[in-house]
Amino acid sequence: MGNREISAVRSVAPDSLLGDVPPEEFREAARRVSDWMADYLRDVGGLPVLPAVRPGAVKRLLPPSPPVGGESLEALLDDFREIILPGITHWNHPSFFGYFSITGSGPGILGEMIAAALNVNAMVWRSSPAATELEGVTMDWLRQLIGLPAGFDGVINDTASHSTLYALAAAREVAYPESHGRGLFGLPPGRIYASDQAHSSVEKAVLTLGFGQAGYRAVPSDGDFRMDVDALRRMLQEDTAAGVRPVAVVATLGTTSTTSVDPVGRIAEVAREFGAWLHVDAAYGGPAAILPEVRESFSGWEEAESIVVNPHKWLFTPVDCSVLYSRRPEILVQAFSIVPEYLRTAEEGEVRNLMDYGVALGRRFRSLKLWFVLRYFGRDGLAANIRAHMDMARELEGWVRSTPGWEIMAPVPFGLVCFRYAPDGTSGEEQDELNQRLLDGLNRSGEAFLTHTRLRGRLTLRLAIGNLKTTRAHVERAWEWLRDAASS
Ligand SMILES: *Cc1c(COP(=O)(O)O)cnc(C)c1O
Repeated sequence: MGNREISAVRSVAPDSLLGDVPPEEFREAARRVSDWMADYLRDVGGLPVLPAVRPGAVKRLLPPSPPVGGESLEALLDDFREIILPGITHWNHPSFFGYFSITGSGPGILGEMIAAALNVNAMVWRSSPAATELEGVTMDWLRQLIGLPAGFDGVINDTASHSTLYALAAAREVAYPESHGRGLFGLPPGRIYASDQAHSSVEKAVLTLGFGQAGYRAVPSDGDFRMDVDALRRMLQEDTAAGVRPVAVVATLGTTSTTSVDPVGRIAEVAREFGAWLHVDAAYGGPAAILPEVRESFSGWEEAESIVVNPHKWLFTPVDCSVLYSRRPEILVQAFSIVPEYLRTAEEGEVRNLMDYGVALGRRFRSLKLWFVLRYFGRDGLAANIRAHMDMARELEGWVRSTPGWEIMAPVPFGLVCFRYAPDGTSGEEQDELNQRLLDGLNRSGEAFLTHTRLRGRLTLRLAIGNLKTTRAHVERAWEWLRDAASS
């Protein structure tokens, strides 16, 4: 199909080119959309997880230039279904096990819809008081749920990458007070430390903040992929003796590759000893702290200066919603607050203006969807679902361990299982190829979607459980597919 015939051009008189969709037409289309959404969420498990499209296939179906006359809403919705939907990877699918599986839950979607309709921009308190104040309240609720002490102040950002960038900008403000005025040029070098398992967003932040690649040191991890704290201490001793300023240490609670948990209590001691800011990346693992039985492995994170937790990862909130907690929010404000005349308001000093906590001026009303999620599920509902995901992961771990020729590659503290097929009598390279073929085959089948990592040099399958629709049967089916394919 080349140029698609575009049907349903609106035939309208020139004066009706002005203004928005008439209310009744909007109502009708909104009804169709909400019906479609309900059907989609009910039936998504029957769709292929990965679309069978080749690069460029979606683009080829779209006209190269925009319409001159307007088109009907009906035409837009039809084309969404016929052209866009077949090119979608279904993150809502119960057998989506790639990266970290997530959920755009019903209450979260409703909150997102209403936020779209309100379309407020909560840059300052006055530009939408309820959006600013609800953000404060949901941040405090979430803080209580995950067991952080009062004094941790939260704001919502789009992604953990930005949350971490802002946290490390605050760390720079502390390590280099003079840099706010004169910049970093000519000052002694500074460094930020994270384990070799840390997320790439940490190094990106280091580069963005002007420390260069030399300003980042990857601390080796132990056999369980946890930061080696003695190695961290040695690096800090070496560097401070050489005149390098220790800017920050980043501990990860739930790394991206294996979900390993850095010993944050011991890391906090070392960071304090050297006067470095401690930032905790709990983008994935944070929500698990709602469970009392998990809280213990987070012990010490309350010593951090800042913590990032992503409700859009394992807290059933639609993308995007990342929370940055800080015990020193005044430093964030110091790093980012610049108030031009046209944004001055009468309430200054009395209220919080969210634009002061990061680079972006404008901000979406993200707390509404999180508020809906926290209220609909409640603490017990959130905990029950997270616990069920962890139980499924442990059950899969058991199946893998008890099947000859298969091995578990990393501990399973949360909802991710890292495993591989490694039959006796095959070389490491042969095993890598076998696992690649298993991964490609399962993904091509459309039945489930997994991604991979490399651990101790070997290609490893990752199966991440985190979607509210996922049941034991979905996990079992993916595992059986792999096991059967491997044995044939
Ligand atoms: C996913 C992830 C990130 C990045 O999250 P974004 O919100 O996509 O920027 C950072 N750290 C960890 C540990 C993650 O798992």
